Amino acid sequence: MRESGRPVPSRQRVPFRQFVLKVHSRCNLACTYCYVYEGPDQSWRERPARVAEETVRRTAERIAQHVTTHGLRSIRVDLHGGEPLLVGPAALIGHARAVRDAVPGGCAVAVSVQTNGTLLTADAVRRLGAAGITVGLSLDGGSARLNHRRVDHAGRPSWPAVRRAAGLLAGAPAAYGGILCTIDVATDPAETYRSLIALEPTGLDFLLPYGNWSDPPPGLGPFAGPVGRAARPVPYGTWLARVFDLWWDTPPDQRLVPVRLFGEIVALLLGAASRSETVGLSPLAVVVIDTDGALQRLDSLKTAYAGAPDLGMDVFRHDFEDALGHPHTVAAQARGLDTLCGSCRRCPVAGVCGGGRYTDRYLHGSGFDHPSVYCADLEHLIRHIGERLRETVRGRTARGRGAPDEPVRR
Ligand code: SF4
Repeated sequence: MRESGRPVPSRQRVPFRQFVLKVHSRCNLACTYCYVYEGPDQSWRERPARVAEETVRRTAERIAQHVTTHGLRSIRVDLHGGEPLLVGPAALIGHARAVRDAVPGGCAVAVSVQTNGTLLTADAVRRLGAAGITVGLSLDGGSARLNHRRVDHAGRPSWPAVRRAAGLLAGAPAAYGGILCTIDVATDPAETYRSLIALEPTGLDFLLPYGNWSDPPPGLGPFAGPVGRAARPVPYGTWLARVFDLWWDTPPDQRLVPVRLFGEIVALLLGAASRSETVGLSPLAVVVIDTDGALQRLDSLKTAYAGAPDLGMDVFRHDFEDALGHPHTVAAQARGLDTLCGSCRRCPVAGVCGGGRYTDRYLHGSGFDHPSVYCADLEHLIRHIGERLRETVRGRTARGRGAPDEPVRR
């Protein structure tokens, strides 16, 4: 399968700093839009349900090697699934300890668990928090109605259990890793945002549903004409712009909850480097270790075609240097302007957008050398945020530079 069309200079290859360790490959929910279980890649069926201790130990050794080789001072380890809490808190704590014990003392290891929340108990929150593991919740909103797609295998709603989990985490902010909300463009953005804020998260992020030009996300496509930057409806752009306005205009007497996507775009507009794969031109620094020890690039590539994330490597036979040098990793790390497709290179917002997520650029038969399937939405959102930022700066300037009651929000 053809990947990006241009060679990537070796100087752009950066060490992995985020290690996604899949601890359980099954899930107790059956969300109707889940790309892992509903998408074209069904490889989860062949993998062990639960990661073995030996796989974790070998992974920890490989991470330690990588940290030493590159002199890394901090890394992230994300304990993922399926549903990671299916292994129980004791195993999660053991996995975190295995990595922390293996890496050199000068490297900080931030460990997180991303969960659907249904198995979270007060005891689990307490033990995970005490072990320095943060817990992030995956939701579609902050109400039963907004989470109607998140059901168990019998079709029962997950919301009652998740509502309890959100309450437990709100009472333990040090352990609360925030909420990741997958956008349902059919919902009212204001209702979704306000319902999430009511759950008192320490932070929020909004996830565009994974999709591509051949299999567009809900509300986009089917596309007529050539793939590329073009005037199209922007349902996700307008949805996110509405949420941005609510966030940006948070009254001074209310807590401003960090929203990662918005913070990233504002920072990029102000000239900072990006720190996420969604926007910006920073190289990707993430690698996935599946329950059988297989090394993979972005999990979301499962939405493109069966086997798309595979590197044909595993922690028993390969180290992370091997994975870093794999042509697929090299292609996915390509985030400089000169590595983007022609449409993106000519785009006025490319420095902020970065061509969007690698996964979303896919077109069957010609690979990833395209703009994001969210191209028009991203441009709309970036221009909107840029205009709001300019308005705010103009207002500050008119009132006198640095007026203390008008901080620029992030
Ligand atoms: S940089 Fe982003 S907005 Fe610009 S053409 Fe590429 S995908 Fe579209």
